[in-house]
Amino acid sequence: MKITIVGHEERYLIECLSLLFLPGCSFRDDADGRSAVSRVTLDGERAAIHSSITADGRTAADETVERLAPDDGALARAVARSFYRAGQRLTGLKPPWGTLIGIRPAKKVAALLRGGLTPDGAADYLAREYLTEPGKTALCLAALEEEREALRVLPAHSASLYIGIPFCPSRCSYCSFVSHSIEKARRLLPGYLELLGQEIAATADAARRAGLTVNTVYIGGGTPTVLDADQLDTLMARVGDCFPAGSLAEYTVEAGRPDTITPEKLAVIRARGANRVSINPQTMDDGTLAAIGRTHTAADIERAYREACAVGFDAVNMDMIAGLPGESAESFCRSVDRVLALAPENVTVHTLSLKRAANLRAMGTDIFRGENEKVSAMLAYSQQALARAGYHPYYLYRQKNTIGNNENIGFCRDGRASLYNIYIMGEFQTILSCGAGGVTKFVFDGGERIERIFNPKYPYEYRDRFSQILQEKEKIVSAFSR
Ligand code: SF4
Repeated sequence: MKITIVGHEERYLIECLSLLFLPGCSFRDDADGRSAVSRVTLDGERAAIHSSITADGRTAADETVERLAPDDGALARAVARSFYRAGQRLTGLKPPWGTLIGIRPAKKVAALLRGGLTPDGAADYLAREYLTEPGKTALCLAALEEEREALRVLPAHSASLYIGIPFCPSRCSYCSFVSHSIEKARRLLPGYLELLGQEIAATADAARRAGLTVNTVYIGGGTPTVLDADQLDTLMARVGDCFPAGSLAEYTVEAGRPDTITPEKLAVIRARGANRVSINPQTMDDGTLAAIGRTHTAADIERAYREACAVGFDAVNMDMIAGLPGESAESFCRSVDRVLALAPENVTVHTLSLKRAANLRAMGTDIFRGENEKVSAMLAYSQQALARAGYHPYYLYRQKNTIGNNENIGFCRDGRASLYNIYIMGEFQTILSCGAGGVTKFVFDGGERIERIFNPKYPYEYRDRFSQILQEKEKIVSAFSR
């Protein structure tokens, strides 16, 4: 898609908005027959804006003259609204977040409230300036309520700990994580775990010298439960030795795939101090599960869930995805009902995102075409059904290239919000990461300043660069003693 910008510097914004209407379009391909123009002519406070988009041999345009508000972002907002209208005319789509891009819309709402607007005032402002539907602002407002409580119990000088296990039983078609199929990479696992144990110890030592207390732990991946019970026990014993259980308010282990879950592993996870597990069906439709490359059934998920309940965790999370290829709205709604019948403490509903490295990408970018309405219906159903069952949104974020630019929402019941998800997604707290693909993120000044250390993505790179990874732990100490 060729984009022409004249009279302003909002190319990135125009690219993001193009993706709303033409999902998956590439800005490196000028020869795909798609193009867009965003042109501004300024005359004092007046801006004459032209927007046009061409795709599939059709062009739609918008011409606007606006008197700009005096704040810095007024021109960008006006340009975005005009471009949105052109996209709407071309495709007939009306993405519900309007022109609000960015992965943390609730942060925007929180800033408006801090600036003195009432909740209704914030909804009006977003509707006027960003064309955001009030229902989306209401989701942000609800999530902010739960966030307030989580922030109330956030200790000073604390961090969360992430531990990555980048191995899975098989690769799901929509996934872009650097995750190795365990069958192909099993020989890498023992060496990986040995180094990971060393990195956890080095991280704990640096955190102690930096005066940081770790209050939540998340072992994710990949699928940590590809480890056998002994490997899980060794890994979690190391975590327990390094980070005293007394300071941990939450300890999650992702047990994403039921084909890796056994009662023995769950017992180890609980005995070693985890109080939350995530068992992720994505869908309860066996046909869709097979189509996305999962080697288990919905009945396996129910079995794993019952086994987790028998062990007794404080919270079980279940992830779902709206918009999986081939899934009808009816099937997704049945999946929601079936998950709710289990009554997990947390349910996270994602919108399918078309990721560059996902196998799904091979099906082409047109797989999103015509999916908006269906996915909106799926999300609306899930939100209503969850509300009826007593769940509240507690965190919310968006990814690029989702169907209809829709969101991912974590829901909780009985106040059992995941602290880790709130702290990390809201950038309220430093995260210390261990393992391949881990990103340590130092959060300073309430999120105003962020610094990152990236671990290598692949397990073999992790092994080869391990001494450098250990040396970089000193940055934890220096970052907090400035
Ligand atoms: S189990 Fe999770 S991390 Fe692994 S391939 Fe599937 S979605 Fe990706």
